[in-house]
Amino acid sequence: MIDDVVRRLTAAVGNQHVSTDADVLRGRSIDHTGRYQGSASALVRPGSTGEVAEVLRLCREVRLPVTVQGGRTSLVAGTVPEHADVLLSTERLTAIGEVDVADRRVTAGAGVTASDLQRAAVAAGLLFGVDLASRDTATIGGMASTNAGGLRTVRYGNMAEQILGLEIVLPDGTVLRRQSRVRRDNTGYDLGALFVGAEGTLGVITALDLRLHPAPAHRATALCGFTELGELVSAAQTLRDLDSIAALELLDARGCTVAAEHLGTHLPVSGAWLLLVEVAGDDDQTERLADALTRAGLAETAVVGIDANARQRLWKVREAQTEVLGVFGPPLKFDVALPLSEVAGFAAKATAVVARHSPAAIPVLFGHIAEGNLHFNLMRCDVQGAAERALQESMMALIAGCGGNVSSEHGVGSRKRDFVGLSRDDADIAAMRAVKETFDPHRIVNRAVLFA
Ligand SMILES: Cc1cc2nc3c(=O)[nH]c(=O)nc-3n(C[C@H](O)[C@H](O)[C@H](O)COP(=O)(O)OP(=O)(O)OC[C@H]3O[C@@H](n4cnc5c(N)ncnc54)[C@H](O)[C@@H]3O)c2cc1C
Repeated sequence: MIDDVVRRLTAAVGNQHVSTDADVLRGRSIDHTGRYQGSASALVRPGSTGEVAEVLRLCREVRLPVTVQGGRTSLVAGTVPEHADVLLSTERLTAIGEVDVADRRVTAGAGVTASDLQRAAVAAGLLFGVDLASRDTATIGGMASTNAGGLRTVRYGNMAEQILGLEIVLPDGTVLRRQSRVRRDNTGYDLGALFVGAEGTLGVITALDLRLHPAPAHRATALCGFTELGELVSAAQTLRDLDSIAALELLDARGCTVAAEHLGTHLPVSGAWLLLVEVAGDDDQTERLADALTRAGLAETAVVGIDANARQRLWKVREAQTEVLGVFGPPLKFDVALPLSEVAGFAAKATAVVARHSPAAIPVLFGHIAEGNLHFNLMRCDVQGAAERALQESMMALIAGCGGNVSSEHGVGSRKRDFVGLSRDDADIAAMRAVKETFDPHRIVNRAVLFA
């Protein structure tokens, strides 16, 4: 059957955009961390909305599962195919429309990367509100599908807050457009919202209308060291309410130490825990930051960066945390949002859980502390199979016990689908399944994602 499907896919998108090469498929079937491998039967790269529709119609007709792939930076193995799927890549949907400066919006293809979108906004004197360390690879379609957050969420919100309109191809090939030119539109269900954070389980996003923001003229950044995590959380609670807050990031000295060894980065402050603070606005932010640090009791210990180079050096400390995660092999990752009052207790208990299950592992906690959105990463974690599963179960039980959720910003993917019941009750899961059944009764798109 697959030969016939490949012939028809080729007719739909062109010979050079379909591959069944074993090496290509193997490379595209592994997750970003390198920990989880699946298998696929073909890769197809449609170049237009019409071609996406044709591919989905065809796969539905022959009941062949499809896994949607954007930049493949998912940290929950959301793009790893488990049913010898056709891989549908959005990498050719890269058109960026003219920026509407007056209305502060732009329309772009789902395969546009975050950094290309950011550059287009900057060229028009504006700013795109979502930034994340995977910016050079992550696509706006993938970011909408996971409702990505990131380094600027404290100021601009997550991806959902940036989306003004969507073009989606449903699993049966129907093209759905919710692309109103007006900002207020309450005509019927907010259908577009259903696809944001759906992780590709309801259809393929092909284009997005995105909100842009005025770019602040001035920024000031500080890095502060703490002995106790609880003290850092208290300071973050004060700082997140500043009108000019632009970033508030928690860092772990354990990760900084590894980064210093492997990247040669220098840590300008001491402490077991670090807080990166950035403020931004239309006037000089130096005084504003100094006042805020004084009020939070941090003026004595903080290192401050005002000019672009100095600020970049402080940000390098944050970015180095993600860069080194893979130096000892694939890391094991947990993405969790916690009530702020639970963060310090969680960090201590999670470290103890890891010591029991994987004594050689190095736990590193970092993340977007304003929202209590944290990434607990295990470097040099050698457990696999049943042992990995036991560690995951202990960690998920701890997270649930601390009032946290199964997924904060990375989604459920295939890695967390068995744990959805810790965050959602039976009625909720049944309603989600009913939505899936309505749009995709044959479970064609992203069969491995979200539902066990
Ligand atoms: C170094 C690093 C840092 C990161 N930092 C952050 C962070 O700060 N905040 C954050 O939220 N995430 C972060 N992530 C996770 C990841 O970058 C995000 O989840 C991102 O949104 C995924 O985009 P992508 O294009 O790579 O999507 P993919 O990984 O390709 O796909 C993600 C999911 O969306 C589906 N999908 C992709 N494109 C579409 C589409 N067009 N239509 C329908 N479904 C689609 C896929 O099937 C999959 O289920 C980070 C990842 C890395 C590697």
